[in-house]
Amino acid sequence: MLCSNPECRQHTVGSHESKDKSTSIGIGAHIEAASQGGARYNANQSAAERSSFDNAIWLCSICATLIDKDEKKFPVALLQKWKTDVDNESADRLKVRTVAAAVPKSVTSKPSLAERAAANKAMREKELTRNAFLRTPEALDAARSQVERIITK
Ligand SMILES: [Zn+2]
Repeated sequence: MLCSNPECRQHTVGSHESKDKSTSIGIGAHIEAASQGGARYNANQSAAERSSFDNAIWLCSICATLIDKDEKKFPVALLQKWKTDVDNESADRLKVRTVAAAVPKSVTSKPSLAERAAANKAMREKELTRNAFLRTPEALDAARSQVERIITK
């Protein structure tokens, strides 16, 4: 897990001397303070809203301290944006991994040189045939009227 501050992005979980433990310097900080007098305290929030996931942002301990020391510099809207950006980023990363995992091994394994050469040749031939076909006036007319049909639909 990384700190949600885009200018920081510190890793918040690291290794520990004991193999079964990890060291975390991450904090689920409040976007709007948990109690009156805290940074960005919102009197209109219910107790449930204050302790909800939506009101928390994952930060390293330094950034968690910073945002509470200077609430003018770190308003609610900014912290919510950090959170949304991080959510989108991790969603994107997950998507990439999921797609990569879904591709069968046979597709990702490297084709041999001969296979690649054959594929290239087939692609070139296909392209050439298509171009040659469009170069005849009849083919061009047919293509034009097809486009017009699509446009006037
Ligand atoms: Zn940080």
